[in-house]
Amino acid sequence: MSSQPSSVRPAAGRIGVFGGAFDPPHNAHVALAKAAIAQFSLDTLCVVPTGHAWHKSQALSMPAHRLAMAKLAFEGIPHLRVDDREVQRPGPTFTIDTLLALQAENPGAQLYLFIGADQFAAFRQWHRWQDILDLAIICIAARAQSTLAGAQFDAQFAAQLTVYGSHSSRFAVLDLPLMSVSATQIRQLTASGAATAGEITQLVPEAVARYISLHQLYRSH
Ligand code: ATP
Repeated sequence: MSSQPSSVRPAAGRIGVFGGAFDPPHNAHVALAKAAIAQFSLDTLCVVPTGHAWHKSQALSMPAHRLAMAKLAFEGIPHLRVDDREVQRPGPTFTIDTLLALQAENPGAQLYLFIGADQFAAFRQWHRWQDILDLAIICIAARAQSTLAGAQFDAQFAAQLTVYGSHSSRFAVLDLPLMSVSATQIRQLTASGAATAGEITQLVPEAVARYISLHQLYRSH
């Protein structure tokens, strides 16, 4: 396991990828993105809303809404750009295709893929996960309610890495304080009408809260 990027900077730079449904994007997503850029000295972090996400059981909001909310949520963060390639791609979207495209566009760059601990737990179900490990360093953030959440983080992480054998050096830790927010919680709060606008604003950037309200998203869940 490596926890810090090598001090040798690849000439073509360091490019991070942070994918998600972002339905909606929330404060933990923003915190994760900022921590990724700072801790891994990224030249660029590409935030990539998924198109048709093969691993999500619920129907997602329209890609145009999720893309618009991602642009609002991550607006103004230096070194970050929201990348629409997966929402433009027809059919299921796979992370490997995005990594291959970014590698072709940025020959020689070091790629970093950022995921929460819940996704790490399922990583070996990802399409072509071995090829992903060859292309990118996988950086994992602790997540509340996941197996990587508590004081035992280091020990549990090391235990989960053993299945990867010599590939375990392709994983790194992203330091992120535990934040118990999830998109599911925001959709449910909005649908039940239980949350006031103020409560939603505690969980998502203000511009996203306004967008949800304006477009009446999540009312029928
Ligand atoms: P849902 O509740 O609909 O499953 P989500 O909150 O997990 O959504 P996603 O858009 O699916 O949001 O997440 C994108 C990425 O952000 C994933 O890698 C996920 O693990 C990570 N992530 C989301 N919320 C957190 C959090 N609170 N702490 C750490 N990582 C998170």
